[in-house]
Amino acid sequence: MSKKTIGVLTSGGDSPGMNAAVRAVVRTGIYYGNKIYGIKEGYKGMIVGDIEELTLSSVSNTINYGGTIILTARCKDFFKKEGRRKAYNNLEKFGIESLIVIGGDGSFRGLHELLNEYELQGIGIPGTIDNDLYGTDYTIGFDTAVNTALDAIDKIRDTATSHSRLFIIEVMGRNSGYIGLYTGIGGGAEEILIPETKTDIEKLCKKLDIGHKRGKKSSIIVVAEGDEGGSAFDIKKKMEILVDWDIRISVLGHQQRGGSPTASDRLLASRLGYDAVHAIMNGENDKMVGILHNKSNLTSLEETWTRKKSIDMSLLKMAEILAT
Ligand code: ADP
Repeated sequence: MSKKTIGVLTSGGDSPGMNAAVRAVVRTGIYYGNKIYGIKEGYKGMIVGDIEELTLSSVSNTINYGGTIILTARCKDFFKKEGRRKAYNNLEKFGIESLIVIGGDGSFRGLHELLNEYELQGIGIPGTIDNDLYGTDYTIGFDTAVNTALDAIDKIRDTATSHSRLFIIEVMGRNSGYIGLYTGIGGGAEEILIPETKTDIEKLCKKLDIGHKRGKKSSIIVVAEGDEGGSAFDIKKKMEILVDWDIRISVLGHQQRGGSPTASDRLLASRLGYDAVHAIMNGENDKMVGILHNKSNLTSLEETWTRKKSIDMSLLKMAEILAT
């Protein structure tokens, strides 16, 4: 294993557990004699040269914090060759030869572009609440986001039951139904609407009606923001053509991105940060570290977004049976 000068950054949408991953990179890296630099605000900091060395104490008391201490950003200039050239020049200035990028598929695309153009080494760590990256069972932040949404659903269930109301709760997930599916199951939702399945409003109303007639006091529909049937408001409108129930809406927003990471996310982030440094020292390049079937796994960066991580449809079937 060879010692390196490694730059670490968090990029794109933030997710709880990113700090635990940065901490693991810094502590593992230094343990093996590497030099670690933190690049602030993702690719933006790379372009403007906002880079500083991270020490063991830079990451003290951070494992429990949401957000990211090295900040994150979306950076238009990095889409352009010229922006990436400036970024590379700054990396050279600091002697950074390897990069660890914590983010989602956009951040990985950016890293892949940079690696194609310059003599650099790069490894990605999956950090996104959406859990939509191929090559890992879970991404950092997903479990915390699900728990946050679940907490809200439990509270809404209390008031829904008191008033015998139907609630449509919208959760995050523009292209992926993972948050919807897991919160729907955990929250005992009567219906789960996600982009991966077709939404049939008529069937949905009939099923809810059977439940009402049997004496169900409340109903919860969880809808992912990217459901092909529309937003919570669209679903409500379509339902109101067919039924005259008291339907209420709750759209859960950015709170799903925040909060102290759960134990699962801290463990996942720690493992992936540790694995990323090992991958760098072993000479791996242009790959993402992940955990598949509880084992460390490497996937080419390109595959993480070109291959679709499919939803386990048997879980939806199970949810349907459990919600009757
Ligand atoms: P996420 O990593 O959460 O998916 P984004 O899609 O917003 O977040 O991507 C984060 C940043 O990565 C972008 O703002 C941009 O700087 C960089 N990026 C994304 N896609 C590309 C690309 N195709 N080429 C170069 N840089 C990219």
